[in-house]
Amino acid sequence: MLLAPRMSAPTPHRPDPREGAAARALLRAERDGAAERLAALQRDWTRIVESSTSVATDDEHDPEGATIAFERAQLETLLEQARSQLGDLDEATQRVQAGTYGICESCGERIASERLAARPAARTCISCASARR
Ligand SMILES: [Zn+2]
Repeated sequence: MLLAPRMSAPTPHRPDPREGAAARALLRAERDGAAERLAALQRDWTRIVESSTSVATDDEHDPEGATIAFERAQLETLLEQARSQLGDLDEATQRVQAGTYGICESCGERIASERLAARPAARTCISCASARR
């Protein structure tokens, strides 16, 4: 006896075009903000580098040199964060296109919309994110 073919393969989440458009708009707004922050940080960076090259600084003995070194280190961290945030947002935008946006990378469940509203580039649902810690 022939059994009707069963579609046992997990049905991928069908992206809702309206949802996709909303996600894209949100991601674009976030990305604009992140790009602006990055540009501002890069301006600060240039300013610091220029001011530190115009004055001969001795990081260890000149208090101003130490301050500049500290500022540079802080800015480097912030620049790094802004860049990785931009990267995350770009990846999230690609996931919208691929139709996998809003799906937890870890368990395959949908990520709560409140979480996506707060963190549009989130890759995992709240329970997987908290389980990892
Ligand atoms: Zn999950």
